[in-house]
Amino acid sequence: MVLTVAVLLAVGTFVFILFVRDQDVPESPPVPPTAHLEQRKAQIYENLRDLQFEFRVGKLSEADYQKTKVDLQRELAKVLAEIDATPAAAQTKKAAPPAAKAKADGKKCPHCGAKFQQALKFCGECGKAMAT
Ligand SMILES: [Zn+2]
Repeated sequence: MVLTVAVLLAVGTFVFILFVRDQDVPESPPVPPTAHLEQRKAQIYENLRDLQFEFRVGKLSEADYQKTKVDLQRELAKVLAEIDATPAAAQTKKAAPPAAKAKADGKKCPHCGAKFQQALKFCGECGKAMAT
């Protein structure tokens, strides 16, 4: 009887240790939710580069090249959209400076006609005042 209890206790302790150990083991380091997408994106870019190279060295016909390129670009667009859809990416976007709208309010120098992405006090081309 005593022996049985001892064995049970030993087994119980053993199982307990195993169980706790298992939980203590840190899971794989935190991976950003877009990690696999970023990886996929890099892969597609690489494929595109390879494709371009193969086309240039004459391994591919123009038709094959175009078709594969379109396929890859379509896949790339899908991956990029998925990355955009993740909350992490949305946050990064919010923090980033609004570069996209620069095109809309581009400024043109009244003196030399040089165009700039943002309003400047002085033209970067001719140096004259551009203030409105
Ligand atoms: Zn100018």
